[in-house]
Amino acid sequence: MTPIGFDNSYARDLPDAYVAWQPSAAPAPRPLFFNRALADELGLDAQGLDSLEGVSIFAGNTVPPGAQPLAQAYAGHQFGGFSPQLGDGRAVLLGEIVDRSGRRRDLMLKGSGRTPFARSGDGKAAVGPMLREALLGESMHALGVPTSRALAVVATGEPVQRERRLPGAVLTRVAASHLRVGTLQFFAARGQIDTLRQVADYAIARHDPALLGDPDCYVGLLRAVAQRQAALVAQWMNLGFIHGVMNTDNMTLSGETIDYGPCAFIEAYDPHAVFSSIDEAGRYAFGNQPAIARWNLARLAEALLPLIADDGDGDHVRHNDAKAAIDRVMPVIDAFTSWYDAHWRAGQRVKLGLSQSVAAEVAGLADDWLELLHAHVVDFTLGWRRLVNAAAGDEAPLRSLFANTPALASWLARWRALSEHDLAASGLSPAERIRRMRVANPAIIARNHQVERALAAATDAADLAPFERLLAALRHPDDEAGEFAAFAEPAPRSFTATYRTFCGT
Ligand code: AMP
Ligand code: MG
Repeated sequence: MTPIGFDNSYARDLPDAYVAWQPSAAPAPRPLFFNRALADELGLDAQGLDSLEGVSIFAGNTVPPGAQPLAQAYAGHQFGGFSPQLGDGRAVLLGEIVDRSGRRRDLMLKGSGRTPFARSGDGKAAVGPMLREALLGESMHALGVPTSRALAVVATGEPVQRERRLPGAVLTRVAASHLRVGTLQFFAARGQIDTLRQVADYAIARHDPALLGDPDCYVGLLRAVAQRQAALVAQWMNLGFIHGVMNTDNMTLSGETIDYGPCAFIEAYDPHAVFSSIDEAGRYAFGNQPAIARWNLARLAEALLPLIADDGDGDHVRHNDAKAAIDRVMPVIDAFTSWYDAHWRAGQRVKLGLSQSVAAEVAGLADDWLELLHAHVVDFTLGWRRLVNAAAGDEAPLRSLFANTPALASWLARWRALSEHDLAASGLSPAERIRRMRVANPAIIARNHQVERALAAATDAADLAPFERLLAALRHPDDEAGEFAAFAEPAPRSFTATYRTFCGT
């Protein structure tokens, strides 16, 4: 096997931000999933890794040459309450590689044993949740959403105790980095300002190198993270995705989706939808996600304040400096909402098949559309998808989702009039319009009942066939006509009414 070409900047540059730590060995590792396409993208020896040698690496049994395994320190607000010390309790960063397009990517093992950050946890992970991360990461990637992805999942051959005994697994996760809002919070909360600065400088070098040397670089970092999160959460909202546990330790600085725990897709459109069993107050409900992102960014701003207030004239931050720093971050937090709205509305515009020339009309039309979906308990994904049929001249599939209602007919008439005006004004060909609508309105998303079915088969019967079929379907979100047709169907209402997701990952 060609060796993995590690280049471990985190280990090198941030010695005070982690604990060097070896993964535990798994007794009887067995491959469950290997992502060849991703291995290729990373410039790895895909064929060499798809082997016993690879399985041994992905289980944590062999630490490959050049890796410097470590557990990262981080803090986080969990459901609004601050935990000053979380950190990688059951994960180790193996190291980083620079992929074929020159992007630096983390390689992390998750479920590879207890670390000094494990607190009361067992350091392990179960097959179901690790395969869920693989499915959701591939699905989001296929949908064009920035996301961490699974390179491999291996069964450990060891049981883990949750509500019941489950087969254990280790996930190899690839991410643009594992820097979180909570990483900066960790050092800010402890008053370790020098390390805080090192981590912030590292984040800038890695994700926002254009800010290097900028005297306002920490405000710039906040702005860049806020802009990435505005774009990301807007994509979630336009796909019906509920993250489920938007704690600050699960919000990346890179703008990638991370930690697919109690996540779910909405079926019938409902802004109040919550599936997570531990989210009793609905803090992370579907429609709350933009407001929570803003709240999390305010926590990031707080963590950065000591750096922004420090005008470089010594180690004492004066009251006036602190107040001036707050005055400089507040406009960024306030701007988040308008950045988010701009992304969300632009996404809706494309979903409606409209061009920039009618952008001013989008908000009203889209709000009324969502209200129609809500009032008639229409499946969010199907509703949007069948708008594509309607754009191509066939309204019947869309109408069949609604009780025969004049409200739909009058909405469709408005939409048609605007679309015709727009096509004439923009010069966009009808075929190109349909193509764009199909991409923006996918047929196949990771439907909760399909995901549960696939994970149950893998967990209870060691049967990976349903997982593999679902994975193939999720990689073709636009393909509902052929073999993947069943994956475009909503769950039976009874399934969704009682569906709960669990954080016990
Ligand atoms: P999560 O809910 O996966 O985002 O994890 C929140 C925190 O709990 C992180 O610090 C994890 O490392 C830690 N954690 C979660 N599950 C375990 C486990 N089984 N063993 C050790 N630490 C865990
Ligand atoms: Mg987490």
